[in-house]
Amino acid sequence: MENFTNNKRVLQEIYQIVALQENEGDIANYIPELAKVNPERFGVSFLSINNEEFGIGDWQTKFSIQSISKVLSLSLAYKIVGDKIWERVGVEPSGSAFNSLVQLETDNGIPRNPFINGGAMVICDVLISHLKNPINDFLDYVREISYCKDIYFSESVAKSEASAGYRNIALCNFIKSFGNIKNQPNEVLDFYFKMCSIEMSCQELTKTFLFLANSKFRTASGDIVLNLGQAKRINAIMQTCGFYDESGEFSFKVGLPGKSGVGGGIAALYPGKYCIAVWSPKLNKKGNSYRGMKFLELFTSETQLSIF
Ligand code: GLN
Repeated sequence: MENFTNNKRVLQEIYQIVALQENEGDIANYIPELAKVNPERFGVSFLSINNEEFGIGDWQTKFSIQSISKVLSLSLAYKIVGDKIWERVGVEPSGSAFNSLVQLETDNGIPRNPFINGGAMVICDVLISHLKNPINDFLDYVREISYCKDIYFSESVAKSEASAGYRNIALCNFIKSFGNIKNQPNEVLDFYFKMCSIEMSCQELTKTFLFLANSKFRTASGDIVLNLGQAKRINAIMQTCGFYDESGEFSFKVGLPGKSGVGGGIAALYPGKYCIAVWSPKLNKKGNSYRGMKFLELFTSETQLSIF
């Protein structure tokens, strides 16, 4: 990519700037296991479509990717069932919190988009209906698209979330009452909690998201993963819905399709150019990484590597 040397310099500079500023926000403590993570962890990984890679700080430390996994479940479900998927989940930003129940009543159990919790559960339901061993097959898919063999979910984080998951349990049962969950809610929730507790490093995240940035991407077996039109649509949903009720703000400040998780990770990409992942566990009020947002805003402003 043009100017990789310059990008490396900017990444280093901005890392130092952000690391010296006050680290605001709170770690996600509604999942007890996540509250144990050191809030000062901070890592960044950059990967161009030509495989130029640069990482800094805790870029090789694994963390709970949480909702970032929803891009991967959506991409697999989309690959399997195609456009029929949009009959069961919308593509509009919700403007509400990721775990809100309010719109589902008037929307008859059709979640506004696949990245809010309810929408992600419908996608999990689709995968359970199509995969033989849902969580294992899903992990194999992630290993295949990322070229990383060492990808697992954390049993303790999944259990921790399930034990305190009253709202998610309510969401899943509520959607089931409208008929938009076909399998048993317990089964869907089990898959959902395990999927959210997948652990990856920033380096692994950039490798995993490369298939959405590089139109020439192939897995080791020669698979294209998604066709161009499908990848375009996943990127569009990340752009409009990737940060819940802060999606407009992320678009405004950073200008990249991306996805956040309450583990403090953000994965973002510039189609045709690069992927970037940031991890810093303290979250702002909307549940997005405080430093992650700050870092990416400075990076795309300084390098002019935003899609706008
Ligand atoms: N597992 C989390 C939850 O359901 C995911 C939320 C997130 O990362 N925004 O609450």
